[in-house]
Parts: sequence; C-alpha cells; structure tokens
Amino acid sequence: MSSLATVVVNGRAARRLRQGHVWIFDSDVRDTDDAKAGDVVRVATRHKSGGVNELGIAFFNPDSMIRLRLIDRKVCKPDRDFWRHRLLSALSFRKTLANQDSLDDVGRMVFSEADGIPGLIVDKYAKVLVIQTLSAGADRLLPMWLELLDEMLSPDAIVERNDTHSRKLEGLDVRSQVVSGKLDVPVLVHDGGLEFEVNPLLGQKTGYFLDQRENRLRAAEYAVGRCLDVFCYQGGFGLQLARGGADEVVLVDQSARSLQMAQNAADRNSLKVRTEVANAFDFLRDQQVDGEKYDVVVLDPPAFAKNKNSIERASRGYKEINLRALKLLNPGGVLITSSCSYHMSEEHFGQILLSAGMDAGRTLQVLERRSQARDHPVRLGFPESHYLKCYVARAL
Ligand code: SAH
Repeated sequence: MSSLATVVVNGRAARRLRQGHVWIFDSDVRDTDDAKAGDVVRVATRHKSGGVNELGIAFFNPDSMIRLRLIDRKVCKPDRDFWRHRLLSALSFRKTLANQDSLDDVGRMVFSEADGIPGLIVDKYAKVLVIQTLSAGADRLLPMWLELLDEMLSPDAIVERNDTHSRKLEGLDVRSQVVSGKLDVPVLVHDGGLEFEVNPLLGQKTGYFLDQRENRLRAAEYAVGRCLDVFCYQGGFGLQLARGGADEVVLVDQSARSLQMAQNAADRNSLKVRTEVANAFDFLRDQQVDGEKYDVVVLDPPAFAKNKNSIERASRGYKEINLRALKLLNPGGVLITSSCSYHMSEEHFGQILLSAGMDAGRTLQVLERRSQARDHPVRLGFPESHYLKCYVARAL
C-alpha cells in the first residue's frame, strides 16, 4: 500500500464516512501528504493516542471543495480489474432492468457515487454511449473507461459531454466531443413505447432526461381530458399523456429548438400535440387570466436551487409555478410536479406544495411521492444522490 499517499482527515469527517457519506470537504482535511489532483489516496484519521485509523480509499482533488470522494472502505490500490468489476456490477444490474422494459434502448448505465465510481456518468442511447467524468479522479481514468466500455458494450460511438458547470467547480476544463467511433445524429431511441430523436452532442444534459423515464410512464396512467406539460423539453411527459389517452395535450417550453424536437417526436409516433414557445411563468399566468382549465398539469422545471444559498429564492419559484398550475386544474385534476434540485428536500418540497395549495384554495391529496428512475439509484447515507423529487397530487 506504500504507493498510495495518505490524506488525514478530522474526527468530523471520519464520523461522516462512518454514517455512510462519501464526500469529505476541504475544511475537514488535515494533511494531504504529497497527493495530487486525481490521485487515489488512502484516507485516515488520527486518534488522540497518536495512532492512525484507516477509513478507505478516495479520489483526491485539492482544487475542489469536495476534497475527497470515497471509492471503497477497504484500503487497496485499484487497478484496471478493480474498475472493471465496478463497471460490470453497474452494467449487470441495468441488464435486469432492461429485461423488464424489453423494447427500450436507453438508460443510465453508471451513476457516479451511487455505483461506487465517483464522478463517472455513462448514459446509453441505442448504440451510442455518452460519458461524463465529473471528478478529477474519474477524469484522469477517461482513456481506461473508453477501453472498458468498448470492450463491454461495443458501442458505435462514445460521446464525451464534459461541458457541465460542475467540472469548473472541480478545476477541470470544459469539453464536448466524439471520443470514439462515428456518431450519426440524430440518434433514434426507444423509450416507454415511443421513438425519440436524441442529439448527444447538442441536447440538454447528455441529450435527454433519463431520470424521469419511470415518472413519465406513470404519468400516462393519469392521462385524461385536457393535459398540460410545462417545461416539456422534447415533450417526454406530454407524449406519454397523449399516448395514455388524453383528448388534448399542450406542450410548453422556452426553447423553440426543444419544441421542434417534441413536434418531430409527436409526428414520428402519430400523436397529436400543440406546442407553445413561452416562458413558463408568463404562460401559466396568462392561461389563468384567459380562464383556461386542465385535467392534468405536469411541471418539470430545471433546478431552481443550484446551491444552499439559493434555496429561498428557489422556493419562491417553485411555489409560484405550483400555485399557478393548481389554479388551472379542474376539480379533482392531477398535478405531477418535480424538483430536480438536491438542495430541495422532499419534505420541503411538500411544504411548498401545501402552501401553494392553501393559497390556491385547493386541498391536495398526495397520490404518489416519486424519485428518479431506478437506473439512477439513491445511495443510502449519501443524500446528494437523491436529487429528483416528484409528487403526484390530486387537487380537490
Ligand atoms: N420534462 C422534460 C425535461 C425538462 S428539462 C422531460 O421529461 O424530458 C427543463 C426544461 O425547461 C428545458 O427544456 C428548458 O428549456 C425549459 N425551461 C427552463 N426555464 C424555462 C422557463 N422559464 N420557461 C419555460 N421553459 C423553461
């Protein structure tokens, strides 16, 4: 083990790790030996007697507030085989999910800390993989991930979408490119019985919102009458509502390009929708002024709370759109509302909904509390991995 540098952390960090967490912040690190950004290091804590307790191995990054990201609680020097096993474990679990949704050919193959590979994201769009390396440690191993993924999944192409803000917080550069094979766009994918076009280089996130897959399917079960999908992107929820038997579906997004893709998807699947390019806040207000009513409203905004400091402002945003949406619902209508911000807890989000309901004069019956799709598993003890909250509520 001598070749791993040792990073010593304080008692608070040791307790945090023992409670299941996997991050250690800069303020809890005491001594970093000669560790460099992206190194795998041995994590240890000193007790009062002067002895040292080993806590495991982690990716180290002196340029990030998140100084250490735990890889394993046993100390070892991870080699290619170690990582191969981690990948295999992640992929084989996804295979069991794939058998359940037989025709679907999309999904998240690797979800970072939740799969024991801090910072690595791998999404699959038919025969194309999209990879993100969002920690210095995962980034340094990029060539190895590409080799292993080629070996295990034989994709036609692998696209690197390392153009996220979180990379800047890690001191990593920002890039997006095809890193292996040949990419033909758009990529045609199957999700929830529908066909979509995905552009892994230009689309939002890695091209598509995989985390809402199961919630979109669930939404189809509430489809009835007049339905509204706000913050629709490519119309994922709205098209499922149309497929589920809605009489009329309206899709709203501020991005004309996204709505064009939504319209293409509707045409491709022989579904009828109406699209509106608009700011969601204005649209919801105008609809109320016009006296429009709906039986189902879906709200799936981008993360309003990007960090702890913006929770209050974000809360006002969530309250406003949910209040406005509730005012548009017919009696007994269903609101399917999401927050994809880790900083907004399920309880807090529920409070906001209650408060919106009170202001709108509506009683809410919670039918379901949902989260991200199962291929984005939540790691118990690491609440940061539980980022998506979705309430399905009936408004009396
Ligand atoms: N529901 C989608 C994902 C939504 S992502 C799905 O299931 O695939 C959030 C979307 O909100 C993006 O498409 C973005 O363009 C849009 N958006 C962000 N701010 C907006 C605003 N103020 N008004 C309307 N749309 C907005």
